[in-house]
Amino acid sequence: MQIKLHAEIQSFVPNDKQTAIEQVIISQNGQATPLQVGEVLICHGFNREESLTFADDIKPQRKDEYYLVSQGQCKTSVPGIFGAGDIISYDDKVSLIVGTFQDAVLAVNNAKMYIDPQASQYAMVSSHNEKFKEKNIAFTKEILSHRSNWLEF
Ligand SMILES: Cc1cc2nc3c(=O)[nH]c(=O)nc-3n(C[C@H](O)[C@H](O)[C@H](O)COP(=O)(O)OP(=O)(O)OC[C@H]3O[C@@H](n4cnc5c(N)ncnc54)[C@H](O)[C@@H]3O)c2cc1C
Repeated sequence: MQIKLHAEIQSFVPNDKQTAIEQVIISQNGQATPLQVGEVLICHGFNREESLTFADDIKPQRKDEYYLVSQGQCKTSVPGIFGAGDIISYDDKVSLIVGTFQDAVLAVNNAKMYIDPQASQYAMVSSHNEKFKEKNIAFTKEILSHRSNWLEF
């Protein structure tokens, strides 16, 4: 694969039937070069949603005039306001979906404790939930019943 740096698309040249792009004219260092192509893929980038605002007297610390700066545990500098996902910024942040899950756990749990300071510091995980215990017993019984069928077979 050939990568052209500091180059930009100047124009497209269609085929005779005007049904597809046949050539891309690349401008590089002031020089125009035709490039024969099979397909043209264009990455437009993306627009960041910036409509989230607060009342004038609520000013959480921001980074780059956008991100909410976490003070740890996804707390913003304004008590009671928490951030999760791409909007929150801290060192070593993983700006992927998996990082958002971790932020959500921290933000929601801290919001819970903000509302109810007596609440447990940790949320219950599914393996500690009584309802799952009951369901697991039923599930295990069901699996074992199938297994006895297999043994008979
Ligand atoms: C081009 C691109 C490719 C990526 N590829 C990957 C990848 O391959 N794998 C991966 O794990 N991650 C990838 N990511 C990162 C991943 O998409 C983000 O980390 C993840 O979506 C963050 O989730 P989020 O809920 O914080 O934000 P978002 O998914 O952006 O969701 C925020 C939502 O809130 C809405 N919103 C914003 N402001 C307001 C408002 N004022 N009122 C109401 N709604 C509002 C927005 O419209 C949006 O729907 C990619 C990101 C980009 C931009």
